[in-house]
This record gives sequence, C-alpha cells and structure tokens, in this order.
Amino acid sequence: MSEEKKIPYKIYLEEKEMPDRWYNVRADMKNKPAPLLNPGTLQPLTIDEMKGIFCEELCRQELDDTTPYFEIPEKIRKFYKMYRPSPLVRAYCLEEKLQTPAKIYYKFEGNNTSGSHKLNSAIAQAYYAKDQGLKGVTTETGAGQWGTALSMACAYLELDCQVYMVKCSYEQKPFRREVMRTYGANVTPSPSNTTEVGRKILEEFPGTTGSLGCAISEAVEAAVSQEGYRYVLGSVLSQVLLHQSVIGLETKTAMDKYGIKPDIIIGCAGGGSNLGGLISPFMGEKLRGEADYRFIAVEPASCPSLTRGKYVYDFCDTGKVCPLAKMYTLGSGFMPAPNHAGGLRYHGMSSVLSQLYDDGYMEAVSVEQTAVFKAAEEFARVEGILPAPESSHAIKVAIDEAMKCKETGEEKTILFGLTGTGYFDMVAYERYNNGEMSDYIPTDEDLAKGLAGVPKFPGNEI
Ligand SMILES: *Cc1c(COP(=O)(O)O)cnc(C)c1O
Repeated sequence: MSEEKKIPYKIYLEEKEMPDRWYNVRADMKNKPAPLLNPGTLQPLTIDEMKGIFCEELCRQELDDTTPYFEIPEKIRKFYKMYRPSPLVRAYCLEEKLQTPAKIYYKFEGNNTSGSHKLNSAIAQAYYAKDQGLKGVTTETGAGQWGTALSMACAYLELDCQVYMVKCSYEQKPFRREVMRTYGANVTPSPSNTTEVGRKILEEFPGTTGSLGCAISEAVEAAVSQEGYRYVLGSVLSQVLLHQSVIGLETKTAMDKYGIKPDIIIGCAGGGSNLGGLISPFMGEKLRGEADYRFIAVEPASCPSLTRGKYVYDFCDTGKVCPLAKMYTLGSGFMPAPNHAGGLRYHGMSSVLSQLYDDGYMEAVSVEQTAVFKAAEEFARVEGILPAPESSHAIKVAIDEAMKCKETGEEKTILFGLTGTGYFDMVAYERYNNGEMSDYIPTDEDLAKGLAGVPKFPGNEI
C-alpha cells in the first residue's frame, strides 16, 4: 500500500511535457482502414472531390495512412494550454469503495466548458478553416458537446459557426443550446425545413425527433450551398482520431513518469474518437509488437454498431449525401430509440477502429442504459465528478473488470476514458432517479430494417 501511495491522486504534466505532435495510428496498421468511396463512382474519394466539403489540410490528414506524426500548430498548442493537460486520476476512492485489488485510472476530459474531449478536435478543425481563409463552418451536434466545443473554437478564432442540433436534444437540452448561442453560434433543430434533405426526411418520417445521421446531411448541404463555408465533423473521421490522440499521448507520458503500465484500456464508443484517441499510442505499441494491452470499446445496447452491426461500406448520414465509409454499421437509416439518453447514438463507427476490431486488436461490449446510470451514480458518489452518460458506459465496464479482479485477486491496472461531465443530462438522471428509465434493446428485426438500407454493390454484400 505505501509503495502504491507514491502515485498521487492526480497526475498532471508540466506544460513542456505536453505533446507537440499528434500521432496517426494508421501509420502502424498493416491492414489500413478501407478508403472512403465516392458513392456515385464507387472509386476512392480524391482530395479534389473532398475539397468542396472539408478544409484542404483536413482532407490531407484524412487521406494520410502513412505519416506517423503531425506537428500541432503553435496556435492550437496555445489553445490547448488553456484547458490541458487534463488530469490522469487514480481512482483510489472508487477502488476502496469496490474493495478491489485492481488499480483504476481515468483520464478526465470534462474540465472545459464544452464538458468533453470534443474541444481537442474542434480547435484543430476551426484553425485549419481559418487558415484557409474561410468565413465559417457548419456541423451537426447530438447531445450538444460537439456543437458547444465548435462554438468555443470558432468564437476564439472569429469564424462563423452554424450548428444543426438533433431535435430531441434541442428540446431536452435548452441550456446547451444557449451555451452555443452565447459563443455566437447559430443553432437549428434538425431535421429542419431550412434544407432540402431536411424537408425530405420530415416528409418520410413525420414527427421524427431526429438523429445524428439526419443532422449531418443537413449540415453538409448547408456547407456546400454557401460560399466560403466547409463542413466539420466531431467524430468518426480519421482526422478526428488524429487530433484526439492528444488524450492518449498525455496519458502515456503521465503513466510512463510513474512506471505504470495499464493491462486494460476502456473507452465508450459513439463514433470512436475519444476511444481512438486514448488508445492510439498504446495501440501503436501493440501493432509494432512492443507491448500488449487489452482494449475494450463500450457501446450502448440500444445502438450496438460493433457488437451487432455489419462490417461493410455504408453512408455516413441518413440523407446519403456523404461519402461511403467501410465500418461496422447498423445502416444509415437506423434510428435509435428515443428513450436512449444522449450521445453514442451514431449508426456507424470510425473506420480505423472498425478495422482494428475486425483484425482482433480490440474487443467490444454493449451495456444497458439503467446499468450505465447505476455505475454513474456509484462513481459520482465516491469520485466527486458527475459523469456524462456517454462516459458512464466506460465506467460501467471498468467497474465490472475491477469486480472480476476482486474475485480472482488479480491486481490489474485498468485505465478508462472519462470523456465528460453530465450537467446537461439531468433530464436523463431525473428519469433514472425516478425509476422511470427503461432499457431498450433492438430486436434482430429492428436491426434488419436499418441494414436493408446499406448500399448494394459487388463485394458489399451483408
Ligand atoms: C461525443 C461524446 C462521446 C462519444 O463520441 P466518440 O467520438 O465516440 O468519442 C463520448 N463522451 C462524451 C462526453 C461525448 O461528448
């Protein structure tokens, strides 16, 4: 015990220990993620085709499977210094509560106004848009963290920011909406009648409370139909995982300082950006044969893309305006149950993580909503942080793994990503506290409906 107490509750890095480069895990993958395809020609998307939608430098990052490190521009490093390094916390109190011999660590990304890790990529994407001389960016937001993060980044760089917010969140989370507006963003509930694709979706699904896939379609349409605008995306894309590698790089440096080696690394997976970022440097070591770790992606049982989806090319959005990505997917038409709280509602998964999962480098589990909130409550009561429901998926599995250690007596080191705080999720907490929360698990028939919408072409059979 005394040996162990040398490790502080919080491990902070000095400014000079912060990473000055992002790490691109694709460089160390033998099987590269499949390229994005042009849905018209079914040929790999070229930089010229992408340039109309995304900023140029971000296109280059998206298509680069070989460069292991990208320098973080000075201006982004300065912004990072306002709210990073984020603490790596030893969960001594949780360990004690659980009476587990496991050593539990979490990397806490909720110490900024957006309340999540999303700011790490928002500032990068806004920076490259500004650098290219654009007027503004458009995007979608689900639970609201990404929209908030992007609003903050755009305010800092004086860029216009237009956010399409999934309607059920827009209504459930008026405070998130107002935070975005305070940072100067223009927020529209999606699906809306301000875009052609929004009007089409409303016609097909009257009364729908929206989905990330719908909101993406609207934001892309808004970007390509306005001069000087590009679209930015808060997750899923390989460029986002690249920016989020700052999480893993800081964690690795902090752990190395104290000679800590995690046995298990756990993260929640919506589109895969925080998990991809957290595991990147560790996965790099595993891919190069230098070390071994267990990686676990945790997803909601109500939106189980890795555990029950198919690994095929699919549209990234409901409106089918985006390129095709090969990923574990439930079909772009999959609409998660409205009773599901907050984020992690995306039908697909990062193509980097999909490939790593398919190659057996990573495991995935799905967990039910009420069990997730129970874990959130347990964590909040001993560790002091009120976690986001998304993050609580990782907490749930970290606790499960720690309890297994209690049975076996193994002193495993468990690391998980605590992606954010849940202050804007109190409606969901209220439902949990009132005993009104239910678990919804889609049936095979429900899933078949979504999967029926996967594009069919030779080599892309389900
Ligand atoms: C967006 C978000 C997630 C899920 O997104 P990923 O891209 O899978 O990381 C998880 N936690 C929080 C707090 C989020 O805001």
